[in-house]
Amino acid sequence: MSNQKHQPLDPDLRASLPSVNVDDLIVSIKYYVDEEFAHIKIKEPGVCSHCQEQPCLDFCPVQVFSSDGQGRILVGYQACVECGSCRIGCPMKNVDWSLPRGGHGVAYKFG
Ligand code: SF4
Ligand code: SF4
Repeated sequence: MSNQKHQPLDPDLRASLPSVNVDDLIVSIKYYVDEEFAHIKIKEPGVCSHCQEQPCLDFCPVQVFSSDGQGRILVGYQACVECGSCRIGCPMKNVDWSLPRGGHGVAYKFG
């Protein structure tokens, strides 16, 4: 199965959104990656192949979700900045989301 069904954001909508350089914002984040526990998982991989627009490929600000080109979604949880969007953005409620275990995750520098 190809990944042709994923529709990028409408160009007019994209142009109307504020310009945000995520790379600039995340440069000061420190990551404490838990290599033994993935806090973001796909519950049922087969569900993703029936998901029409696969919005997870767009709504995650750091592209944790990617397509394998065969309809399956890969999850690079190590890059997660814990914004919480995938708790509500998946129309199938197919993302198993939790905070990283204690001592892991991201640390934001303010000021
Ligand atoms: S939005 Fe949800 S169901 Fe659709 S492809 Fe992404 S994780 Fe799978
Ligand atoms: S919580 Fe935010 S940054 Fe983490 S995977 Fe979900 S959408 Fe991406």
